[in-house]
Amino acid sequence: MGFFNLWERFKSEHTIITMNESLQTQVSATNGKMSNGLADRHEVAEGLRYAHFRADANTGKLLEVASFLYAAIDLLNQKGLLDLAELDERKKQAATNIVEKFTERGMGVVYQKPEYDKYKFEGEAKIDCENRIHLCHAACCKLRFALSKQDVEEGIVRWNFSAPYLIARGEDGYCQHLNREEKCCSIHAHRPVPCRAFDCRNDKRIWLDFENNMVNPQINDPSWPANLEQKDTALAEEKN
Ligand code: SF4
Ligand code: SF4
Repeated sequence: MGFFNLWERFKSEHTIITMNESLQTQVSATNGKMSNGLADRHEVAEGLRYAHFRADANTGKLLEVASFLYAAIDLLNQKGLLDLAELDERKKQAATNIVEKFTERGMGVVYQKPEYDKYKFEGEAKIDCENRIHLCHAACCKLRFALSKQDVEEGIVRWNFSAPYLIARGEDGYCQHLNREEKCCSIHAHRPVPCRAFDCRNDKRIWLDFENNMVNPQINDPSWPANLEQKDTALAEEKN
């Protein structure tokens, strides 16, 4: 395999996140049904999605070059010659490692994985929230999680402009869609899959003893769960 072909294969294999779909989503019909504020926000969101697409494309290209270079340097350094097959393998590993590091640092965009059609999702957790909300204060709606492409393209669920596409939260740490007074979801029919699937019963961050209605008192800390997130960044994935 020639160098050019190898490079072309590398590029096609290591485009980190493609967002062509986002460019195809030029929402116009739904804007007519929105209030001015919502329509404005939707336009800003679309603009940001385009900006994220461009930034992400650049990040993807940079990753290609960096991973190729690191692999080549590594191999040349160790063997003193260039073997394309070995370089190909080494480059894949290097690219994977770099992607993991970028993901850890919040560079690029994050989507829910795996993605399900939320309107056909059948794994919904059955919990008597109405009888427990006075105890848990809807703590689950403070957890951080990534939206799906379906959520983002639908344009109903808000995402964090500074951390695409994590759910948007208010200064109080709650999801922006939580009705603060009623402690209920204002977009219940459109809520993301993690909200449908999340089962708090065995989540010790929330319930010390679910059956006996014993909440974890830590949920009353205003910084919850950010304090936990600082200790364990993996929490970001737990509601997915
Ligand atoms: S923490 Fe559990 S009981 Fe409370 S609102 Fe969330 S899902 Fe319902
Ligand atoms: S979308 Fe609704 S159920 Fe999901 S976190 Fe926000 S308020 Fe809670």
